[in-house]
Amino acid sequence: MRSLSIFGATGSVGEQTVDLIRRAGGARAFRVKALTGGRNIARLAEMARELRAEVAVCAEPSGLAELRERLAGSGVEAAAGPEAIAEAADRPADWVMSAIVGAAGLVPGIRALRHGSVLALANKESLVTAGPLLMAEAAAHGARILPVDSEHSAIFQALVGEDIAAVERIILTASGGALRDWPLEALARATVTDALAHPNWAMGQRITIDSASMFNKALEVIETREFFGVAPEQIEVIIHPESLIHSMVGYRDGAIMAHLGAPDMRHSIGYALNWPDRSHLPVARLDLAQVATLTFRAPDEARYPALRLAREVMARRGLAGAAFNAAKEVALDRFLAGQIGFMDMASVVEATLEALDDAIGNGSTVMALEDVQSVDHLARVRAAERADIVARGRAGAG
Ligand code: NDP
Repeated sequence: MRSLSIFGATGSVGEQTVDLIRRAGGARAFRVKALTGGRNIARLAEMARELRAEVAVCAEPSGLAELRERLAGSGVEAAAGPEAIAEAADRPADWVMSAIVGAAGLVPGIRALRHGSVLALANKESLVTAGPLLMAEAAAHGARILPVDSEHSAIFQALVGEDIAAVERIILTASGGALRDWPLEALARATVTDALAHPNWAMGQRITIDSASMFNKALEVIETREFFGVAPEQIEVIIHPESLIHSMVGYRDGAIMAHLGAPDMRHSIGYALNWPDRSHLPVARLDLAQVATLTFRAPDEARYPALRLAREVMARRGLAGAAFNAAKEVALDRFLAGQIGFMDMASVVEATLEALDDAIGNGSTVMALEDVQSVDHLARVRAAERADIVARGRAGAG
């Protein structure tokens, strides 16, 4: 019987993973080692009971008493806190879903790789902040990383049976997010509610805002570089509002392999769960005659400065990805809190990268976890300072 763990089980990707596991037989078909969550303790306990997990872990130590109470009599162990989440990754499992949001997903992912697990990686922030480290851990321990991001799963599938050396370019598709048709000058006034109205995908709140700003696509561009090892100039982004082509690979003979499907994350999660096989998945089938038209347009970098910043990060390499991701997380928190504007997020990130120029831009691909964590911390401090300045400016102007 295959064993598995889900980190970030209570989130959008986590719930969809649980859905697929339930459909595949749940506790009768899989030995569930660990399920982790953040604040949603009631849901975490419910899943852990249903899937008969060995241990359920919540992120906040203050949640432990409630988790214990909800699991009383179930035989599921309860634990809490970041170290307990990392320790849960030390319970060897054949398959591990990494679906915590943000930089908090990095350490459990690394710990799972050290046990030689197949790591289904939704947490793109891990590759952006510490791609070379993650790849080195996987290689050293005979572990395998499978992409879960729909774009990277699409690329991975379009590469099956092909030689990466024959790849000329990778074309990432982007929906353009909730604000793609807004006039450029109106974007500065966009609210959280505006940015959350995603046209195609139902996702967690943070990634939906990142989709509107294309910080999500910027992370994915860097993720593509780290995952597939292609040069930055081989990576293109195209807006494809229908979100039916999930990404494409262009080969040196001019052929382009595209991956199509309904916008449903259970496709790429299911592909990673069943890999290398394909099994039936409960996703809608495309009726191309009904779809009739697929449209594309080039992204405007004035509207999406995050894409330009991603190129700068790739040019710098080293710890630039860690600084970029941390600054982006702070800027997003501040936007969600109503302290800075939608377009201010990019300016906060850009200013942070400039402020940390000496600390991050050494061009090295060798990194230690401590260095990643120290730059992450530094970038959060600098980004918070910058966001305070922007927030004061807005308050003064208002
Ligand atoms: P959600 O916000 O829906 O869920 C995040 C999960 O992480 C929840 O289980 C949450 O717990 C938990 N969590 C939050 N903070 C912490 C923390 N500090 N420590 C431990 N656990 C924490 O996110 P998504 O499911 O949308 O995204 C997860 C990852 O997958 C992200 O990296 C995202 O970029 C990526 N991804 C998501 C896609 C999607 O369609 N949603 C598509 C492709 C990639 P709780 O909810 O209990 O607080």
